[in-house]
Amino acid sequence: MTSLSVHRSTGPVIAIDGPAGSGKSTVSRELSVRLGVERLDTGAMYRAVAWAALDQGVDPGDRPAVAAVARTLALSVGERVQADGVDITLAIRGPEVSRAVSAVAANPEVRTVMVERQRQWVAERGGGVVEGRDIGSVVFPDADLKIFLTASEEERARRRPEEGAVAVARRDRLDSTRSVSPLGIAEGARIIDTTDRSVADIVEEVVTWL
Ligand code: C5P
Repeated sequence: MTSLSVHRSTGPVIAIDGPAGSGKSTVSRELSVRLGVERLDTGAMYRAVAWAALDQGVDPGDRPAVAAVARTLALSVGERVQADGVDITLAIRGPEVSRAVSAVAANPEVRTVMVERQRQWVAERGGGVVEGRDIGSVVFPDADLKIFLTASEEERARRRPEEGAVAVARRDRLDSTRSVSPLGIAEGARIIDTTDRSVADIVEEVVTWL
């Protein structure tokens, strides 16, 4: 053993994927509190890149330009989201960002940059609850636990009143049909329909799987 070796206790990596409004954020937040580990909202990362592109007047469909934005963006994603020192926690939930984010997230270079940051985030903490679209399939295919959340289309639209049913359906279609890392059920994932269940009930079930 050298004096440079780093000793770190490693906790579980829990991957939570699913479409918009399936309950990912609520469930992963409660689960992280219950387990005493941190949570990473990877959707907020893609939203932050979309926000920065729009803020800089970059067309969300201009792949090289958006990739450059992603590479240079100083990003901090926790309960609050900051990009280059600006608090954008509320701004990234607005309609302009929701409309642009799927195009940004379909950009392979943007995904490469974000996936690397997500893996680094987990490596620094030795584990955590990570939510998104491709966490169990691409980012952490060896996660200790993979969960895929679903809910009825009506319920998911009800949970996104500010975005609207049509826009939610459009985003899900784009996210599920893109060529890189499309939303889908990862191999080995457990599927939970959250339509008629309480968060507490879901978290209790998930904990039994660890
Ligand atoms: O989770 P949320 O709905 O905030 O994600 C916003 C968008 O970010 C998604 O519609 C999707 O386009 C993108 N996303 C992704 N991969 C992830 C997380 C989010 O492509 N792991």
